[in-house]
Amino acid sequence: MRWDQQSVFDLNPATTASATEEAATGEADTSAADTRGAGTDAPPAELFGLKGLVRSVRTPEFAGVTFHEVLAKSALNKVPAGSSMPFTWTLNPYRGCSHACVYCFARSTHRYLDLDTGQDFDRKVIVKVNTPEVLAAEVAKPKWSRELVALGTNTDPYQRAEGRYALMPGIINALAEHGTPMSVLTKGTLLRRDLPLLARAAEDVDVEISMSIAVHDDAMQQTIEPGTPTTKARLATVRAAANLGFKVSVFLMPVMPKLTDSVEHLDAALRSIKEAGASRVVYGALHLRPGAREWFFEWLERERPDLLPRYRRMYSASSYASKEYRAWLSRRINPLIDKYDLRGSADDDYPKTKRGDRTNSPALNETPAASLTPPPQEALF
Ligand code: SF4
Repeated sequence: MRWDQQSVFDLNPATTASATEEAATGEADTSAADTRGAGTDAPPAELFGLKGLVRSVRTPEFAGVTFHEVLAKSALNKVPAGSSMPFTWTLNPYRGCSHACVYCFARSTHRYLDLDTGQDFDRKVIVKVNTPEVLAAEVAKPKWSRELVALGTNTDPYQRAEGRYALMPGIINALAEHGTPMSVLTKGTLLRRDLPLLARAAEDVDVEISMSIAVHDDAMQQTIEPGTPTTKARLATVRAAANLGFKVSVFLMPVMPKLTDSVEHLDAALRSIKEAGASRVVYGALHLRPGAREWFFEWLERERPDLLPRYRRMYSASSYASKEYRAWLSRRINPLIDKYDLRGSADDDYPKTKRGDRTNSPALNETPAASLTPPPQEALF
């Protein structure tokens, strides 16, 4: 169901119409959030300054989560010149992510909204409800370069909110109709809903699908990625995409020292990924930038206090794991990747990929493995 087709419980036509006008003039009235009783949540005071804010919504299906719906002025983000990222354009219809991965590198982006990088990031999700329409106008411009647009580089486009707002079908259609290749990276099994649409898009433009599956231990997965679908369900989604002819990459990252870097864990992970029909694995060691670091250390204190001193040492000077650790990990994982013929590469490889050369070239299943690079682990907003 689209965001504009919701029941009266969360959509008051009178207040929405006026809020839309006010948002357009930069004077968004958030009072709509206060008129719907227990199902709604007043936006935090900080958000009253958020341009384009239409209203804030809570619904019973998303207990504990507040959606702050905004009207965005633009959809495409240009990656800054000089960035090592292998693509030039990104698009993120959501800010914040109810998948709530403890290690999430995007947490710090919530600071720009004066929200916290912990629970607020997981539970206060900004929804750019007009993204498909704004994007359609942007890619229809004659000057649009038709370079690849990367989806899922910062927050997950198939997080649970997408079940309510269904922004992705309009985004996929807008890109495909205007000859624009796209890549999708997600942990969300909701991707399955759009696989037929993506397969149709792939008849016209290059479509890359990647699934992020870092933890192949059910108990750990549920505590460290508490809002995500299970590993098993994500592997089934990989299978569904592969069955449609997509060459699916799996991002086995972050690999976390002493948590998921044992030979047993890596071997079991790669075996499952291979069995699911993936074509390629990309791995990378955990990095902990400020915003994620504090949250991750709290998790360690709760779940694995024995590892806290080690992590403090490892990540005290830098957000990145040391070169020595990354080299060690590479030596450990590469033979396993070869064993399962998953042609993996470390995230260190991605700066080598040339940017700006990924314009429309229709070819389902003809994407070279080297172009399926990991997302940047840095904020794009
Ligand atoms: S799914 Fe991605 S964006 Fe969402 S919380 Fe997890 S790491 Fe962050």
